[in-house]
Amino acid sequence: MKTKKRFIAGAKCPMCKQSDSLRVWEENQIEVVECVECDYVEQKTPQAIEQSVHGTEQLIGIFKPE
Ligand SMILES: [Zn+2]
Repeated sequence: MKTKKRFIAGAKCPMCKQSDSLRVWEENQIEVVECVECDYVEQKTPQAIEQSVHGTEQLIGIFKPE
């Protein structure tokens, strides 16, 4: 399985304050953000995924909080 990692343009690491050092990819539908300059790692689990445990149900009416 290929994992596409891409840098977030203009993003600043909250830990080491470096610009353009954050990269993001998806792992088992979890968004992982990592800094290449320090050990900062963040995992984002969208609530929509937790709620759609029925799998085949239609994915409508999902709202992102941001
Ligand atoms: Zn960092």
